[in-house]
Amino acid sequence: MQSEALIAKERIGLSEPHIAGNEWKYVKECLDTGWVSSVGSFVDRFEQDLATRSGTKYAVATSSGTSALHLALLAVGIQAGDEVIVPSLTFIAPANAVRYVGAWPVFIDAEDRFWQMDLDRLTEFLGNECSWVGRELRNATTGRRIAAILPVHILGHPVEMSRILALAQEYRLKVIEDATESLGSLYAGKPTGSLGDAGCFSFNGNKIITTGGGGALVTNDLELARTARYISTQAKDDPIEYRHSQIGYNYRLTNIQAAMGCAQLENLDSYVSAKREIAQRYLEAFAMHPFVSLQQEAANVCSNRWLYTIRLLESSPITSRELMNCLGQHEVQARPLWQPLHLSEAHKQFRPRDKFPVSEQLNLECLSLPSSVGMSPQQQQRVIDHVCVALDRRASA
Ligand SMILES: *Cc1c(COP(=O)(O)O)cnc(C)c1O
Repeated sequence: MQSEALIAKERIGLSEPHIAGNEWKYVKECLDTGWVSSVGSFVDRFEQDLATRSGTKYAVATSSGTSALHLALLAVGIQAGDEVIVPSLTFIAPANAVRYVGAWPVFIDAEDRFWQMDLDRLTEFLGNECSWVGRELRNATTGRRIAAILPVHILGHPVEMSRILALAQEYRLKVIEDATESLGSLYAGKPTGSLGDAGCFSFNGNKIITTGGGGALVTNDLELARTARYISTQAKDDPIEYRHSQIGYNYRLTNIQAAMGCAQLENLDSYVSAKREIAQRYLEAFAMHPFVSLQQEAANVCSNRWLYTIRLLESSPITSRELMNCLGQHEVQARPLWQPLHLSEAHKQFRPRDKFPVSEQLNLECLSLPSSVGMSPQQQQRVIDHVCVALDRRASA
């Protein structure tokens, strides 16, 4: 612990905003012109830029990624009492959004290599545990209609969408991509978010680009985009008489936020490169480590490597939580993956009979390491050194 590099210096965060472009200029323009609220040229421009960037015809900017998911579920026609397939290993927002519309999540375990939803298990579930009642696919156990698949590209790594889309076609299911962690990632050369009926992004402060808080829904379907926009603005039928024929929401992004989003989006390519370089350095540091295994990257994808995550082997002398605490003592922020949703108190009304061994293992063994776009190689070396020392010290103690 004498080494200069190991003396605690400034705190190294997990995934911090990087603001180094036209953010000030564009936000100032909003303030100077008074266009600060939910209408304005930056909102339009941000939506256009996002649609271009994600390879879709339409984008609807929203107040958060969660509200984009809620809108997507409403806009594709998910009804109360339906079921929507969601991975068990994800941040909770997609499962919550399913509950907002009165539908139920059906959790599917993760697979071991890329840590995404296990598509073998999904295929088995749809083929063996569901059956047709007329033109509807029903869950044989609950009797409810299966209406959609909601894959989440966790940690930025794309789910194998060709299989999801084939299953969706075979079973007549809608597909909503939770691409909130994967802006800039490609699946078979196509941007995540553009492959399903609708895709959702988040611009929360910890995501690859940020608007402070915000999100968007993207789609190639004009009707779907119109519906989403309509519901996101209180379902206003008449802007003068204020007549509404259904319940809407106030889910719009403001012009100030969109101004920041336009500036951030201009730098997305360099942010993806930065994250991928960080991932490459971690890979080189840990590939041969006796106690560490890594998330693999599939051959036909390019992950934005949003949050670099290591997995401790069972032989590791310390647990992921002990490692997290060690790093914390040295001002290095690390974080486990999310509690698997089948164990969540918030979703205990839907207790599946299924087992989720991979999600549970990954939750126990994984730890996300600092991956901020602005992290310097020197800071990253500090992280790597602390990880190695923590694992080594306990091993030889
Ligand atoms: C961040 C995130 C969201 C929600 O985004 P907010 O903008 O915070 O509402 C949804 N799903 C996943 C997987 C996320 O990581």
